[in-house]
Amino acid sequence: MTDTNKTSDFAPTPWWGLLLPLPWWGWVLAALGLSLEILLLASGAWPFAILGGYGAYRLIRYLLMRRYFASEEFLAKKEEIQSVVAEHNEVKNYVSEIRNSGTFELGASSTGSHAHLAQSSNTSRHNYKRDRNVANFAAPNVHNCSLQVVRNAQADPLKYLIKYFDIKATESGVAEVEELGESVSRLEEAITNLRAREASITESLNPPRFILKHYNAEFMKEVGVELSPISVPYPNYVFEYVSAGGNSGQKTEIQLNTPTIDALISKLSEKVKFAKSAAGQRALMTAKLRNFIKERDHHTCQFCSVSLAQQEHLLLEVDHKIPVSKGGLSVEENLQTLCWRCNRSKSNKVL
Ligand SMILES: [Zn+2]
Repeated sequence: MTDTNKTSDFAPTPWWGLLLPLPWWGWVLAALGLSLEILLLASGAWPFAILGGYGAYRLIRYLLMRRYFASEEFLAKKEEIQSVVAEHNEVKNYVSEIRNSGTFELGASSTGSHAHLAQSSNTSRHNYKRDRNVANFAAPNVHNCSLQVVRNAQADPLKYLIKYFDIKATESGVAEVEELGESVSRLEEAITNLRAREASITESLNPPRFILKHYNAEFMKEVGVELSPISVPYPNYVFEYVSAGGNSGQKTEIQLNTPTIDALISKLSEKVKFAKSAAGQRALMTAKLRNFIKERDHHTCQFCSVSLAQQEHLLLEVDHKIPVSKGGLSVEENLQTLCWRCNRSKSNKVL
């Protein structure tokens, strides 16, 4: 056994290890509590005995938790992984940046830009959201339609998505879906990376099981890990039929996650017939291409040369050397693997 995999080989600190040493008043309290329990049980007041027993359990559990966080073992390990925690929190901030700067809606760039000129109110009793241009991620884009359309959308989701939500089968339409796909996958990967870092921090501290089960939030807080509340705001498209009386209804929901977005990109590009244009020579910016670029670059940042082989939790991203906004194409020559730090400082310079 080598020193490098020391922590995970050991069993977590047993909870009873935290019980002792008990101060004298602790013994007195324990004895008092125990005699009270026996008294309650003997006098047949078992509901009170159960209540008292449960109260004592919660109190002891709480005290053990405080003891663990004050223990030398915990404090030493916490000190040891301080830099790991600091980096985790940096990635957490990066997740917020991606969430704020990314595109998580289709056509948000042009449609709805004049929506502020009109006032609309929803007068339906059921308060259905009909206005799909409202930039509210919590509200899905709903298309109210006949039952037949709901069923067709189930059978051929992409076709109906393109048709009823006005997704343009043009080069710029494909580019827009690709932009959405890049934002979604970038955020997905950053969040996954954050979770992996949290799991590894937990593993290296290896706390007693009851801490993870009952006090996980307190544990993360004590260690200094800032948890991110962000999840991926996948655009959601809904085809919904509600009968006139509102008594029966059916709906088909399509979530634009990475597989759906990639399928949509292929479908749109088939329709566009790129062949004649210069842009048509390019590859489609899908998860497959991004993975290919990372493989090609040996999971190594092309700026600072840090690699996945050196850092287990390195977050790598695929970058356009010449940005799309400056006419850069999604061709292999214009794509490179960057670590998140280099990609972040590069995009800060471009802005
Ligand atoms: Zn780098």
